[in-house]
Amino acid sequence: ASGYSLLRDPHHNKGLAFNEKERDAHFLRGLLPPTVASHELQVKKMMHNIRQYQLPLQKYMAMMDLQERNERLFYKLLIENVEELLPIVYTPTVGEACQKYGSIFMRPQGLFISLKEKGKIREVLRNWPEKNIQVIVVTDGERILGLGDLGCQGMGIPVGKLSLYTALGGVRPSSCLPITIDVGTNNETLLNDEFYIGLRQRRATGQEYAELLDEFMTAVKQNYGEKVLIQFEDFANHNAFDLLAKYGTTHLVFNDDIQGTASVVLAGLVAAQNLVGGTLADHRFLFLGAGEAGTGIAELIALEISKQTNAPLEETRKKIWLVDSKGLIVSSRKESLQHFKKPWAHEHEPINELVDAIKAIKPTVLIGTSGVGRTFTKEVVEAMASINEKPIILALSNPTSQSECTAKEAYTWSQGRAIFASGSPFPPVEYEGKLFVPGQANNAYIFPGLGLGLIMSGAIRVHDDMLLAASEALAEQVSEENFAKGLIFPPFTNIRKISAHIAAKVAAKAYELGLATRLPQPKDLVTHAESCMYSPVYRSYR
Ligand code: NAP
Ligand code: MN
Repeated sequence: ASGYSLLRDPHHNKGLAFNEKERDAHFLRGLLPPTVASHELQVKKMMHNIRQYQLPLQKYMAMMDLQERNERLFYKLLIENVEELLPIVYTPTVGEACQKYGSIFMRPQGLFISLKEKGKIREVLRNWPEKNIQVIVVTDGERILGLGDLGCQGMGIPVGKLSLYTALGGVRPSSCLPITIDVGTNNETLLNDEFYIGLRQRRATGQEYAELLDEFMTAVKQNYGEKVLIQFEDFANHNAFDLLAKYGTTHLVFNDDIQGTASVVLAGLVAAQNLVGGTLADHRFLFLGAGEAGTGIAELIALEISKQTNAPLEETRKKIWLVDSKGLIVSSRKESLQHFKKPWAHEHEPINELVDAIKAIKPTVLIGTSGVGRTFTKEVVEAMASINEKPIILALSNPTSQSECTAKEAYTWSQGRAIFASGSPFPPVEYEGKLFVPGQANNAYIFPGLGLGLIMSGAIRVHDDMLLAASEALAEQVSEENFAKGLIFPPFTNIRKISAHIAAKVAAKAYELGLATRLPQPKDLVTHAESCMYSPVYRSYR
């Protein structure tokens, strides 16, 4: 290949880091200025540039541009500055990027499969340059973060998630495939936006929707085999649960909004037992919000307690109560409930207000997953604090504006007694001379390590026990030093080490359950996980 095309190939380009010999051997003379820079110096320069930008969206665009230009520099930057760059390449900034995708769009990323491609999806997959795919993240754009239907512009989400699979979980970039399925959008603003990049029609539903998804799922398995991991991302809950149930028995599928959230929150709750003393089974749980996140978390908690105590799932579910937009979910509402809410319709008189539900149920743990901000009012937090010595309060709704309460409110209104974590990050809070560091229940703790564990064991199905194993592995990574600050999640700085531990536990579970195909089982799974991880060092070109 010519030097010119080498510089334009993001997988091989090293920019100023091409040395003298490489410049001679690959026809690069004159195409680069005389300086030879080290990879480290390039990172320093790029971080300097990114920090110059005031707006997070500008930083996002600079990062996307870098990814298109020099992949190894992009990943080195992301890995070495993970705490600073995670909110840029992923939530909350990626949400803004999706909203403006039509106008900031420069070069298409990922694969777009729309209703136009019906009957031709296998051909479309063959147009993707890489053949050896291990992870697909796919969205239909109907429920992007807490932002609603963004149609085809949801592509930012699979692209962002997969860059975390690589940076945090060490999955090779060439084996990651971001996909957006475009069945239309019901977002009027987008339908009327002349710059909108997707199909200009309302969403296909019912059989038309199901057929396109079925063709897609079949084509993926035919093209990439049984061991390709398909992560469903940001589907609306009226499709998400059904897709997971339908393909869970035939494909290696995982829904991050339901299962990933559940696993990360369970890890936080398990870790929190170090602060409150006792076990999960001692608790009563109340959720505000009974959708993908709420019922997903609830089910995994019930499963974990059932494993710990040998009690049947039907019994352990009774420790868990959920409130949706119509009030407390109780048995008298059962007929009219969506199927994923039915297991939570316990015997109780109807209650409309959250505060009243707290007074009646007396939960020890309060979890917000409604997507509606400012719902954990002073009255709510005070009610939790009057019932519990150390109330556990998780405000999980994203983005920051939708958080149920701020960290400061949780600590202040509970007189410093709350154990608090949130979906979006909050800065540390000083209350009466003590520093409290709120944890972030970020799904990025779990899915990269889980994915690596599935890949390295050659798993063919995702099993709930693997989610429990991932939670356990994450909870074990919280240190005494973290607990002292009130943290129930470890810091992100060591995330690749954390991911390796998660991967090892998940893989061990896959072998134990007979779902692993990569045999024999490696002796030391943590070491093996670390050795499998992609590292963005430059290759030398001779
Ligand atoms: P979802 O499936 O649409 O569920 C939302 C639920 O909230 C529904 O049950 C809905 O009730 C209920 N709800 C809406 N408004 C309400 C109100 N005013 N009062 C009480 N309940 C109300 O959404 P999701 O996927 O679960 O996501 C929910 C939120 O969790 C989002 O903000 C998301 O960003 C966040 N989340 C955080 C994490 C994390 O922290 N790691 C992970 C995933 C999601 P109806 O069923 O009656 O409509
Ligand atoms: Mn999501």
